[in-house]
Amino acid sequence: MQLYNTLSAKERAELIEKAGKDRLTLSFYQYAKITNPQEFRDQLFITWNKLDVLGRIYVAQEGINGQLSLPADRFNEFKTHLDTIDFLKGIRLNIAVEQDNMSFLKLKVKVRNKIVADGLKDDTFDVTNKGVHVDAEKFNELIEDNNTVLVDMRNHYESEIGHFKNAVTPDVDTFRESLDIIEDDLKDHKEDKNLVMYCTGGIRCEKASAYFKHKGFKNVFQLEGGIIEYTRQVKDKDLENKFMGQNFVFDERRAERISDDVIAKCHQCGDAFDVHTNCANDACHLLFIQCDKCKEEMNNCCSTNCKEIHALPFEEQKALRKGQANSNDIFKKGRADHLPYKKDLRNIFESFKK
Ligand SMILES: [Zn+2]
Ligand SMILES: [Zn+2]
Repeated sequence: MQLYNTLSAKERAELIEKAGKDRLTLSFYQYAKITNPQEFRDQLFITWNKLDVLGRIYVAQEGINGQLSLPADRFNEFKTHLDTIDFLKGIRLNIAVEQDNMSFLKLKVKVRNKIVADGLKDDTFDVTNKGVHVDAEKFNELIEDNNTVLVDMRNHYESEIGHFKNAVTPDVDTFRESLDIIEDDLKDHKEDKNLVMYCTGGIRCEKASAYFKHKGFKNVFQLEGGIIEYTRQVKDKDLENKFMGQNFVFDERRAERISDDVIAKCHQCGDAFDVHTNCANDACHLLFIQCDKCKEEMNNCCSTNCKEIHALPFEEQKALRKGQANSNDIFKKGRADHLPYKKDLRNIFESFKK
């Protein structure tokens, strides 16, 4: 029985093209007790592979977190299958704002220790004691309140290209780091301020809100379904959109545009630009922001050094890479020192200091 992805991204892209069918990109998550994640994972793979589902799904004893695409005309079958699983019955699916048939090119269902890498020890607090979920309308109201502190729970490269007006966007590489920064900066306001938080699809706030309540914050709120669901509600209900720029997503699309504002800069020349790219040098792959002009000048590379390596014949590049560990720090390196323009930091809590 086939239990793993067998086609390459290129082969898959060709198949999708040939099928000529519209695909739907969506995401969902659920915290639930899964006693045998491996068995659950295998069943999911078998069923979803038949439905032509592609994506990245994490299964753990604490639940499931999935980002995927499937042919639009198989959506009902997919939904019916979810409904056969107790803890996924009637679950909210976050449908992507911008659709792209090539958002995912492989089906990867992985068993992990956690469904989000949060760096936290679970037994230190009660994850089910979370903050108050608010919808887009209530969220818009709350963030206009002078007593509210609005915090972006994502990492620096995500908030750099898009965030809510007046949000604090911690300059962090990991979720764990931002928890400490926020707690420290807000330690004198645990009871008198509304702590309102948001993330891409809501999953990170599930943990974060429970964590902050555990740490003594009294008024904790979280945007239900994150930026994705907010955008849908704003459109559906004709509400004011308070999100500026692009929503960073973890698939081939990289981001979906929520408003026309361009709030980031090309990391090389400083011009207004908000599209991420990976350095073309295979040994680097740094994720950074590069405008079209710099792209051309630098041959899609992040530095002159990478440009030189990238220009070498393939075999020579390979020889250079030999013995070098493949770096997993591509996001972290997004702030590499050789890039002169970086995010305008709006760290915590200028708003209180003025
Ligand atoms: Zn540039
Ligand atoms: Zn590079």
